[in-house]
Amino acid sequence: MEDSYSFAAGPAQMPNEVLVRIRDEMLNCRGSGQSILELPFTGAVYGAIAEQAEARLRQLVSIPESYRVLFLQGGAYAQFALVAMNLMGSTGRADYVETGHWSTRAIGEARRYGRVDVIASAEGNGFTRIPPWQTWCPNPEAAYCHITTNETADGLQYHWLPDPGGSPLVADMTSDFLTRPLAIERFGLIYASAQKNIGPAGLTIVIVRDDLLEQAQACTPGVFNYGIQAASHSRTNTPPTFAVYTAGLVFDWISAQGGLDTMARNSLQKSRLLYEAIDDTPAYSCPVERDCRSLSNVCFRLDNPKLVESFLEGAERHGLFNLRGHGARGGLRASLYNAMPVSGVERLVDYMKEFSSQHSSPKSLPII
Ligand SMILES: *Cc1c(COP(=O)(O)O)cnc(C)c1O
Repeated sequence: MEDSYSFAAGPAQMPNEVLVRIRDEMLNCRGSGQSILELPFTGAVYGAIAEQAEARLRQLVSIPESYRVLFLQGGAYAQFALVAMNLMGSTGRADYVETGHWSTRAIGEARRYGRVDVIASAEGNGFTRIPPWQTWCPNPEAAYCHITTNETADGLQYHWLPDPGGSPLVADMTSDFLTRPLAIERFGLIYASAQKNIGPAGLTIVIVRDDLLEQAQACTPGVFNYGIQAASHSRTNTPPTFAVYTAGLVFDWISAQGGLDTMARNSLQKSRLLYEAIDDTPAYSCPVERDCRSLSNVCFRLDNPKLVESFLEGAERHGLFNLRGHGARGGLRASLYNAMPVSGVERLVDYMKEFSSQHSSPKSLPII
């Protein structure tokens, strides 16, 4: 089908305008006569590309001068360990909040490098609700407090920000970075791997406050040492040059759309359409409590789980791809990142209603 939509959690659908620009510039990048794939990372052309990407990101998010932007590799999963290696040094302990699949992974990795206290957990409610702030017990000695602003596999998202007092707030924002305005000065550090909302896999963005740069444990690899990477402008070794170039194009695209306010408005519109369909149409349900529902990853279920395969097959016939839930959680999931147009969600909702009317059994059989 010509116009198909991918609801994959990542690597995700890209803005079409960006793909076209990559194609057009592929053989001659910025008048250099070379492809972006051939440009040395130490050269002037790549240097300008990386600087422009960073400048555009700083403008989009209003990043203060006192924060560094790092372009790293290894994905968010690497950051689970690297945050601990780089930041735990001061006290050897950190606070974590457990809200789903990804925060659980972050906790598991961090435990290898120091003491981790889980100061609030949603495990008891089956990961359907973010623990309310009043129930958290932050430790004054914690080097930082780690949250996952959007749980990609479970469909939970913070719609408020905690203030853990003395210790800096650190957030995995992989699946909701750039989907809404962000008060970066409320955080000590945030990180996001690119393949959800930024660009191709292979790039991880870290935004870190200056005063947190020099606390790395001695065993921290040089390429993963925030201080060393900041000092070399993320060019300690070869950076993921194509992914940085593409991220720059995506930042330009977001700006041209109207910036993060527009992304937030679109996100609200798309997710509202879909949650209304889930709540109002027989055959579907969403286990997540309303005030914690993710606007980026809508996780839902079919009341009859045996129909999942036939739902997915029918969806593909309608040009709607990658709606299977996360492997660890099952069910269905529609990821509605920035590049997903409203028309994709409208088509999904139409298909869901059609599928429901074909498969819901009548409540009572007619008497002959
Ligand atoms: C996808 C995702 C990860 C893992 O990212 P990788 O790039 O595969 O390491 C971690 N955290 C969140 C919130 C995610 O959505």
